[in-house]
Amino acid sequence: MSWTATVVTLFPEMFPGPLGQSLAGRGLEQGLWRCETRDLRPYGLGRHNAVDDTPFGGGAGMVMRPDVIDAALNDAKRADGAPCVYMTPRGRPLSQTDVRRYAAGPGVTVLCGRYEGVDERVLEAHEIEEVSIGDYVLSGGETAALVLLDACVRLLPGVMGSADSGVEESFSDGLLEYPHYTRPAEWNGRAAPDVLLSGNHAAIAKWRREQSERVTRERRPDLWAARSADSSATGRETP
Ligand code: SAM
Repeated sequence: MSWTATVVTLFPEMFPGPLGQSLAGRGLEQGLWRCETRDLRPYGLGRHNAVDDTPFGGGAGMVMRPDVIDAALNDAKRADGAPCVYMTPRGRPLSQTDVRRYAAGPGVTVLCGRYEGVDERVLEAHEIEEVSIGDYVLSGGETAALVLLDACVRLLPGVMGSADSGVEESFSDGLLEYPHYTRPAEWNGRAAPDVLLSGNHAAIAKWRREQSERVTRERRPDLWAARSADSSATGRETP
């Protein structure tokens, strides 16, 4: 059975969306991964299939009902032990480490919220992992789910063109990636670094390493500090 994403959503037509294009789309066509959706609406209650209700304690907006979400999740959950993830700005920030873990398993079941989000009790009852794609608020979990799935799918065997492309990229070793250059060697008065045209592989590797470290230090002091702390704890060479 290929890696399978099961998306629980009020908007199943949003999937696979952009993931039906390019490398992920080709992977989908080739059966390297599968994208299933479970529409929440038929689980809704009453004449209008309501999935939401007013929040206890008052306040703006609506909350997705636990009984409705529970019924959909029970049908969506799989026997293969795939983790169940709720996309929410209150969740743990999604990292490349999470992505690698999800991609290495049988797939993932993703719950997409709408309105003010989901009743807390159903998240507890299903022991759902809560994951955020960043410190901003989207109108719904579907675009966040697409981000999560894109990051996973590109790591699946056979999806990316070159087996090497995932090895040296940003976060693979706790650093951001070095800058890239291609033809022409000089463009609008700006020359590509000589070392990259030198053919000296050791010098190129050294330059790229230094650039990765510089960019990480300048742009992401949080990553740089975490890496330094990790190096001291493990006795690894300090960056
Ligand atoms: N009231 C919620 C709060 O302040 O945390 C925001 C709800 S948001 C309008 C509706 C849905 O969008 C959420 O239930 C969640 O599924 C999704 N969402 C919004 N921002 C997100 C983010 N940064 N990461 C992941 N999912 C997000």
